[in-house]
Amino acid sequence: MGNILLKGIYLGGEKKDILIRGSRIAAIADNLAHFSGSSPAGVQVSSSRNQGTGSFLGEGQVSSGSSLGYGSISVAMEVPAFQEGCRVIDCTGKAAVPGFVNMHTHSAMTLTRGYREDAKLQDWLQDIWKVEARMDEDAIYWGTKLACVEMLKTGTTTFYDQYWMIDAAVKAVQEMGLRSEHAFVALDLMDEGKDPAIKEGMAAMYEKSLGWGERCRMSVGVHAPYTVSDSMIQWCSWFAREKGLTLHIHVSETERENLDSIARNGCSPFEHLERLGVLGPEVIAAHCVWLGEKDMDLMAQRGVTAVHNINSNLKLASGSRFLYEELRSRGVNVCLGTDGCGSSNNLDMREAMKTAALLQKGWRRNPESLPLGELMEMASLNGARALGLDAGALEVGKLADIAIVNIDNYAFVPGLDFLSDFIYSANSSCIESVICNGELVMENRVVPGEREIIENVRRICKKLYP
Ligand SMILES: [Zn+2]
Repeated sequence: MGNILLKGIYLGGEKKDILIRGSRIAAIADNLAHFSGSSPAGVQVSSSRNQGTGSFLGEGQVSSGSSLGYGSISVAMEVPAFQEGCRVIDCTGKAAVPGFVNMHTHSAMTLTRGYREDAKLQDWLQDIWKVEARMDEDAIYWGTKLACVEMLKTGTTTFYDQYWMIDAAVKAVQEMGLRSEHAFVALDLMDEGKDPAIKEGMAAMYEKSLGWGERCRMSVGVHAPYTVSDSMIQWCSWFAREKGLTLHIHVSETERENLDSIARNGCSPFEHLERLGVLGPEVIAAHCVWLGEKDMDLMAQRGVTAVHNINSNLKLASGSRFLYEELRSRGVNVCLGTDGCGSSNNLDMREAMKTAALLQKGWRRNPESLPLGELMEMASLNGARALGLDAGALEVGKLADIAIVNIDNYAFVPGLDFLSDFIYSANSSCIESVICNGELVMENRVVPGEREIIENVRRICKKLYP
């Protein structure tokens, strides 16, 4: 793992040098000096800034916005100079943002992109399941690789995956250089006879996951409260806590799900999960579209993380009034996800951010809702926090997961507010290079192996759609 110096890159409104050493950000300073000798080197830096969405026009300008860890710089510290052998990248006309953390996706569903459009959820699911039945490990491997290409091109460095044949997916991610957490999905369709095999599979996958290396981890997946028996859900919760893993579950995605839960259990899905004793800080709940006051109180009390999947919710007409402000005011950690390409067609987090903000402002008739700083945190820092990752912000000591944005183009002119330009004005083709775990995994929009991946996915899809 080599060292990298990002020379003269805009960070929160100021031009900085970012030194990456190994997997972490070693220094952020105005101007890091080069040295080639063996003497211990240090450059005293006294710059101290911590800002929000700042402009990159004028030195010293700070625009208002929440403090988001984005572009915060340590006070008066000893900054090591960079050495011989360090790769220096001229970042004139570029800005740095934290790599996105996509908190809910089914990555190999890139293989179902564009299939069965304009259909009702149940009809769509029936047809998707038929295609999924034809998928093998080869399909999952190449489908996940295609997802990785797309995620890198749109600035994502970490994703939380819930899909089948995890071995093949992990192999793909390891080769592509991203970070991922893979939920092993328990789905017994209320048939407890299936549970022993699921438990065995979960335990075996956990043992295997210990050898996956530092970038990939396992999570416990519960498909949903309406597809998994209560005893299985409780076992999954026990297993997650026992092994220190996160627990991923779809909750309150549709109104129908809530009505069915009330008919069956006499309460909402979240209240049901509370009765089962499974709500806790390890729980990461996807969708959360249909929430009552009591549900949100429970999420706050138990430290549950919510993942907003705006594009999927809109496209499948699951619901459009995500209660962001109500969750945030209670202190619930809210993250962003794209969901799989079957329902959201792409894995573009920047696009999801824009849609989430526009919709939140629109249905509330309040333009102050979901401001830029919070939006950026939702797509990066909050996800890292939920996964216990020391990433999601560009600060000294954090993991070096960075997207480098080209700001020398029309979308960033006049350049009054970087985050506004990045999210509302540009598209993701402005993301030029990506660093994950201190490694350059995409440079000048080139992802190694992209052509081969596309050809293989085309070959596989001929079999999936005969
Ligand atoms: Zn999903």
